[in-house]
Amino acid sequence: MGGQGAVPASAEVVIVGGGIVGAASAFFLARAGLRPVLVERAPALATATTAVSAHCVRAQFSEPENVAMMGESLAIFAEFAAVLKLPPDEADIGLRRQGYLFASTDPDQAAPFAARVALQSALGLDDVELLDGDEIRRRFPFVAPEVVTGTFRAGDGWLDGCRAAELFARASGAPVHVNTEVLEIVRTGGHVTGVRTDRGTIATESVVLATGPFAGELAGEPLPIAPLRRQRLIVSLHGSDGRPAIPQGGPLTIDADTGAHWRPHRGGALIAWGLPEAPGPPHWPVAADPAFADLVLKDPRGVGRISPFWRDLAPRLAPAEIALAAGQYTMTPDHKPLIGPAADTVGLWLHTGYSGHGIMGSPSGARLLADLVVGRVPIEGNPFRPGRFAEGGVVVAEAVVL
Ligand SMILES: Cc1cc2nc3c(=O)[nH]c(=O)nc-3n(C[C@H](O)[C@H](O)[C@H](O)COP(=O)(O)OP(=O)(O)OC[C@H]3O[C@@H](n4cnc5c(N)ncnc54)[C@H](O)[C@@H]3O)c2cc1C
Repeated sequence: MGGQGAVPASAEVVIVGGGIVGAASAFFLARAGLRPVLVERAPALATATTAVSAHCVRAQFSEPENVAMMGESLAIFAEFAAVLKLPPDEADIGLRRQGYLFASTDPDQAAPFAARVALQSALGLDDVELLDGDEIRRRFPFVAPEVVTGTFRAGDGWLDGCRAAELFARASGAPVHVNTEVLEIVRTGGHVTGVRTDRGTIATESVVLATGPFAGELAGEPLPIAPLRRQRLIVSLHGSDGRPAIPQGGPLTIDADTGAHWRPHRGGALIAWGLPEAPGPPHWPVAADPAFADLVLKDPRGVGRISPFWRDLAPRLAPAEIALAAGQYTMTPDHKPLIGPAADTVGLWLHTGYSGHGIMGSPSGARLLADLVVGRVPIEGNPFRPGRFAEGGVVVAEAVVL
């Protein structure tokens, strides 16, 4: 273990950033035979974006690289203790596979939903169900009568991404240096030669930049990333007082028409909604908008639209039962991560840009990163190569993000 003192004089590879992406990178780089050192400016791991996530994991995507990435990640999470070679009783990441339900009140959505399920099936994701409104309500009686169509995958769910990050770091065996800010990636003749921190310089030829929304600050070249604020609400019920219960057996329930979504969380719920906002510079901490709670709980487009119990419950929640938090998605134009070498600096590896999917994507992404670093897979065939935007032909994703 490292600590808070001086950093080592040299390292085989330095990972900058101790969120889930950096921690997973440490694990897979170590498993590939390297000896990484992890450097984090905060006093502990997983205290920034990772800490304010909704921690949801799903394979329900419709692009081949995303389906493959999330499928691999879910398999890693499902066998976490075995993959990390940790005792099972020490490797509980709270994985709950209660499913993901995308539901719509718009009859015109039935055809696109059916097409997406067919596409997913063609991609090997053959356990996504297309359901009509009655079948959705038979399974989840809390769903509004107006819902007419939806898709459901029972194997999707959520977990504790902070715990997963801690365990990735522990299982990596990598020295972890917290309270250590990286000030500069030192370059000589276009090659990485070191990492300058506020506790000294580490000589190295290899650096993984896993600083989430802050990656642009150290990359030394323009990155196609845009930090975008996203907010989350945790509802903790202190007693029932005759109020409607939050169905704890329910899935992650997404209003596919508005994007508002909620899931059970420790007897209460976790709620999120990607409201339209302009991207801005990276920062931490990220201030939440106090109006967000009222909006997501009481607005006609909020969670009460397809889960009407929220309409009864929302006005009866005490302020102390609501906790609001915010962070930043690290968006890329196609909403897929940047995993691979930087354009201008040999030895600098980018691992960021998960566009709101870094909990679910990072195990697979980190495995890929490690394979790239040790040369086990070629740079060219990698669908997440950072250079893809400069090559042209990348399909820019729609504005709505989950
Ligand atoms: C409200 C919200 C809900 C979300 N819901 C989901 C979800 O349900 N599922 C999902 O998969 N994803 C979700 N995400 C996205 C997910 O949380 C992120 O993709 C993921 O946490 C990114 O991890 P990271 O390690 O890249 O970033 P971070 O967790 O931000 O880690 C980066 C680390 O780098 C450190 N750092 C930065 N600069 C320096 C420096 N110069 N020197 C040293 N250290 C530095 C920071 O302190 C930080 O600890 C959500 C995000 C938000 C905001």
